[in-house]
Amino acid sequence: MNSGKKILVTGGAGYIGSHTVVSLIENGYTPVIVDDFRNAQSSVIEQLEAITNQKIKLHRVDCCDSQAMNTVFEAEKPNGVIHFAAYKAVNESVEKPLEYYKNNLQSLLVVLELYQKHKVQSLVFSSSCTVYGEPKGKIEVDESFPIEKAFSPYGQTKIICEQIIQDFHHSQPDSKIISLRYFNPVGAHASALIGEYPIGKPNNLLPYITQTAIGKLKQLTVFGNDYATSDGTCVRDYIHVCDLADAHVQAISFLEKETNGVLEAVNIGTGKGTSVQEIIETFETETGVSLNYTIGPRRAGDVEAIYANTSKSEKILQWKAKRSLKDSVCSAWNWEKNIKKNGY
Ligand code: UDP
Repeated sequence: MNSGKKILVTGGAGYIGSHTVVSLIENGYTPVIVDDFRNAQSSVIEQLEAITNQKIKLHRVDCCDSQAMNTVFEAEKPNGVIHFAAYKAVNESVEKPLEYYKNNLQSLLVVLELYQKHKVQSLVFSSSCTVYGEPKGKIEVDESFPIEKAFSPYGQTKIICEQIIQDFHHSQPDSKIISLRYFNPVGAHASALIGEYPIGKPNNLLPYITQTAIGKLKQLTVFGNDYATSDGTCVRDYIHVCDLADAHVQAISFLEKETNGVLEAVNIGTGKGTSVQEIIETFETETGVSLNYTIGPRRAGDVEAIYANTSKSEKILQWKAKRSLKDSVCSAWNWEKNIKKNGY
């Protein structure tokens, strides 16, 4: 436990942000959410209050609005910031690259300026394993894996943001910053009160599965079963969102303890690869629901197989994933059923 330090969580009403707010409170921090709800449900705040049994402080602000954000920093005087607020849909980023560059870069620039101006102690940035692109000949990637051009404007924004952070740190060597490179976040809080809430048709596999199972979508298409993997379907590292949330708390706590400046990029995954076929089988076995799916062609830009080397997260953050794939699949399903029942 710690002394109730205040952590500003941009995008704190979103999928990963909301789970991180719960984890911060469980670990004795005081989170303050900054979110303009452009991609989140207002009901998330009530649900967070129900889970944590406390009032959640919120600022409805666009993170790109530097004046409004300055007012928030002035009022809150946060000890740390976790910066989630960003656009994240890969396909949409191909359609609207300018919106992605504008929003994702500008919000980071605002956060970094205010981090410096208000002498914030630590910053955790939401990055992604997408920065690794296609890991040629190597599917277990560690942080030294070369960062090349990403497959999408979304991925490119993460690469550029990490670069901006490096340049900023170079100019401010006392700054303490960690970029967490997430693999594939899945699942929901055990209460089934918060979870992933895709706006429109989901792009990611697990929400597609649960929405098909509940009848919102007709059929899941498996994008290719002719890859050079054990069953021909793509392999990813699916990390339970509550484990991912805990990793942010560990990152903040690690930065707080460091007396000198820090800049690190750390993989956050389970260290285990799981195929699309295995996910479907786990879902069917654990929920007893048979899924309507078909095998289709490969999706453009898909990486065949990738999973995290987790040595660095274990070493420097003293964090590793605790929850199983079964937990991920069952919690995602409970959340989907709860959405249907309560209409969040
Ligand atoms: N996938 C699929 N059907 C879908 C959505 C995803 O077969 O409707 C596959 C996709 O080809 C990939 C895996 O599921 O192999 C994970 O895809 P997702 O978009 O969730 O994550 P990412 O590709 O960004 O790692």
